[in-house]
Amino acid sequence: MVMILGKMGEVVLKGLNRKAFENRMLRSLKYRLSLIGNYKVYSAQSTVYVEPLDESADMEAAFDIVRKIFGLVAVSKAYSSEKNIDAIVECAKKNLASELRRIKTFKVESRRSDKSFHLKSPEISGITGGALLQAFPHLRVDVHHPDVTVYVEIREQFAFVHTDPVPGAGGLPIGSSGKAAVLLSGGIDSPVAAQRMARRGIELDAIHFYSYPYTSERAKQKVITLTKILSEYCGHIPLHIVPFTKIQEEIRANCPEEYFTLLMRRSMMRISERIALQNDCSALITGESLGQVASQTLQAMSVTEQAITLPVLRPLVGMDKEEIVTIAREIGTLETSNLPYEDCCTVFTPRRPKTKPKLDKILEIEKAVPFGELEREAAENCEKLVISCEYDG
Ligand code: ATP
Ligand code: MG
Repeated sequence: MVMILGKMGEVVLKGLNRKAFENRMLRSLKYRLSLIGNYKVYSAQSTVYVEPLDESADMEAAFDIVRKIFGLVAVSKAYSSEKNIDAIVECAKKNLASELRRIKTFKVESRRSDKSFHLKSPEISGITGGALLQAFPHLRVDVHHPDVTVYVEIREQFAFVHTDPVPGAGGLPIGSSGKAAVLLSGGIDSPVAAQRMARRGIELDAIHFYSYPYTSERAKQKVITLTKILSEYCGHIPLHIVPFTKIQEEIRANCPEEYFTLLMRRSMMRISERIALQNDCSALITGESLGQVASQTLQAMSVTEQAITLPVLRPLVGMDKEEIVTIAREIGTLETSNLPYEDCCTVFTPRRPKTKPKLDKILEIEKAVPFGELEREAAENCEKLVISCEYDG
């Protein structure tokens, strides 16, 4: 039988809370798998096991799901065998054949968590390695830099045979670090920021500001698609879509152009704080990266942050654009983020933005617009969608 093994990462360091972390992770994994078929999910010895419960269970699809579960650092497809050495050798020869034919060197590593098994680890490796050399005469053993390592694990119920695992999503189970609201634009950065904080165990709400008719329905759809991609890691995500047009028009009509972006960003922060508090979120998350654009200088970030009291998490603040793009590609958001639909900020971008703004000057300028009232109205009129991987609106 083929099954999936996921190795737990930091979760195992959690001492007394470990069981709670583990259960959280198992709950989300079970739920995600229940959407595609019948699987048995359980954990033992820092490993999560996924077994198919019927013939039709799609193990490739299950593998993709397990790879996106936060808390697992390595994932492999393993073949189970009875706990006797002949069965183990046969299992390895049969199931690893296609992979072993493609390579030149290998080694076998064995581990006994069941110490009552009658052979010791080096003996298991020796017998299995010998049998594989006989069955695949083109192979050589290389203990230092093998193309592939064959693992034999003797556990409680079964023995397992598998080759090198692929990296899992890492991090901590969703929800184990509380809740925060991410300001999600249609750009490259904010989805990456969202995924990075979710990976540290934060459950997300997403907030998007849109400026119809300056931005189109397609721009909104793009953000829905991005949220859906994020939900493959996070489970369901409430997405709050805030109408921002009126506030932007008021700013444009009443304030100096060089301050447009800063005033918009401060207003977004205040509205987001309102929505965050209503939804039990204890921080905001943005995709800001130091120096990337005029509104992301230290001074600009500082006056933006001073619009609110909730902490602002900026997981990308010290990253280069290239690093951010690499992660976006890896987590699957890049292609959607690159779609060319206009963004509510680009429409109102000043020609010469202030890069070293002073807070007292901004507070003076803000008196020209009734922000409090407009922001209350915007928060009240926001549309709430709950996005999950099943969402098809
Ligand atoms: P991104 O790639 O995430 O769009 P950016 O490089 O375009 O970021 P800015 O436009 O300065 O940078 O925005 C900084 C941050 O403000 C974004 O990462 C996002 O968190 C938030 N933000 C910007 N525009 C919006 C929007 N329309 N809705 C929600 N959040 C936004
Ligand atoms: Mg942007």
